[in-house]
Amino acid sequence: MSTKTAAVNGASTDAARKIFDDIEAQFQLGQDALIKITEQFLEDFRLGLSEYNQPMAMIPTFVTGVPDGSETGTFLALDLGGTNLRVCEVTLLGNHEFRLKQQKYKVSETLKTGEASALFDYLADSVDAFLTEFSSAVGSPTVTDIDNPFEPTPPAVPLGLTFSFPVEQTALNQGKILTWTKGFSAKNAIGNDVVQLLQDAFDRKHLHVRCVALVNDTVGTLLSRAYTAGSCILGAIFGTGTNGAYVERVENITKLGDSPARAQGGLMIVNTEWGAFNNTRTTLPTTPYDNKLDRESINPRKQAFEKFISGMYLGEITRNILLSLIDAAPRSLLFNGRSSTPLNTHYGLDTAVVSEIEEAWESGRTDRIAKVNGTVPQWQSAHFTEVNALPPQDVDRLERIRGILIQRLELPAEDVSLCDAATVRWAASLVANRAARLSGTAIAAVLVQTGNATLGGGTSEPSENIIVGVDGSLIQHYPNFQTRLRASLQSLVGEAVEKRVEIDLAKDGSGAGAALCALQAIKQGL
Ligand code: BGC
Ligand code: MG
Repeated sequence: MSTKTAAVNGASTDAARKIFDDIEAQFQLGQDALIKITEQFLEDFRLGLSEYNQPMAMIPTFVTGVPDGSETGTFLALDLGGTNLRVCEVTLLGNHEFRLKQQKYKVSETLKTGEASALFDYLADSVDAFLTEFSSAVGSPTVTDIDNPFEPTPPAVPLGLTFSFPVEQTALNQGKILTWTKGFSAKNAIGNDVVQLLQDAFDRKHLHVRCVALVNDTVGTLLSRAYTAGSCILGAIFGTGTNGAYVERVENITKLGDSPARAQGGLMIVNTEWGAFNNTRTTLPTTPYDNKLDRESINPRKQAFEKFISGMYLGEITRNILLSLIDAAPRSLLFNGRSSTPLNTHYGLDTAVVSEIEEAWESGRTDRIAKVNGTVPQWQSAHFTEVNALPPQDVDRLERIRGILIQRLELPAEDVSLCDAATVRWAASLVANRAARLSGTAIAAVLVQTGNATLGGGTSEPSENIIVGVDGSLIQHYPNFQTRLRASLQSLVGEAVEKRVEIDLAKDGSGAGAALCALQAIKQGL
């Protein structure tokens, strides 16, 4: 296809250009907006720490310290996340390292949305299958020796559960499910104790396993990063969902009242459940594409922040933008007005595809965003009619994107121009850049809350690095996610602090974190 024809369906008229400019403007978050959002975060942190049933749950986890890397032992861990179910055997080696054997199991849509007992039976079955096939060090589940009834029954295998949904914890091994997120809606779960639900399933199957600890994935990430790095103040997930847990001073968790936990003082990890930020819909500049996504979601008016940020939703917001361009009046601005099955399907554009599109644009590029100034050089709408003025290597990259669109969106080749490729890349980057910049506000808020930074900068450079552990598909795989996040963070807390923030992947953090928690539970005699 010649680059000349590529430009033909471009927006040469002022009306069309205005449509692009309007969309772009709606996704921009300038410095003032970022500061305002971070301030609201801090306000919501304060509210959530002082009262129950607040938009930001700020859940006390009863994890009262972070490991230092010397811990040892072998534990089972079960990790129910947004996308995967994982059973692991974790061996803490005591030298900041751990070994992990794991098996992934798929969670079907039926299980996500059916009866909770069926879901928990499946969890128990997976643990059973894992123990039968893989496990060695933690012992077999059928350990009772029927030939010798006088042999004392060995203690049940201790298991730590990583449960990546909001749970109001009342102890390390106790907590009620508050709500489902990320497309789950299993019935008869909310309000029940998740440890009990799992233990009942183990008992129904006569599995000799005892769930001793319950941990959110963010808490697991924090613990595991602390184990390997020696310290950590924040564990954050940017994956299918988003959330963060950080180390708070117990005296600040005033909603604990005169409870023994509060009287003990010291530190406690708090699970913020920041995915619910802006559920009041008063802070984030919201576009019609966000509103459409929210309305059509399984949990309208919930997890508002998460819906701007996480992997479950970025593709869907992008799809909504593309549909509006396809339908633009008086003349379509995309794909000759043609749509396709994936484009017409709810969640039909996977964030992984959007990520692939951005990757195709970024790869081979010399002016990596990081090095410029952190802002994304958007494919300005003004460029849309100038594809033929692009250097050849840019045209190559657009050709690659065009190929992805034809294949993944099942569009006829003749309806996908290079200009369309540029338009889709532009839409994707608007959505992802906003997500990353908002992610920066959440991290900035935690840095300020923990006394590691002041909003607007002005703190002198910290003497030690500030350790943050992260996990999740977006931060791991989405091109430039961390770079964009850091740009936002820097504009909020200043360069001196931002450059001392070490954001590293807590690999297999959920598993290791659950093991560390199980260890703490056993030490507490639970
Ligand atoms: C859940 C959190 C979880 C996060 C990341 C959110 O939807 O509410 O509990 O930590 O996803 O998995
Ligand atoms: Mg996970």
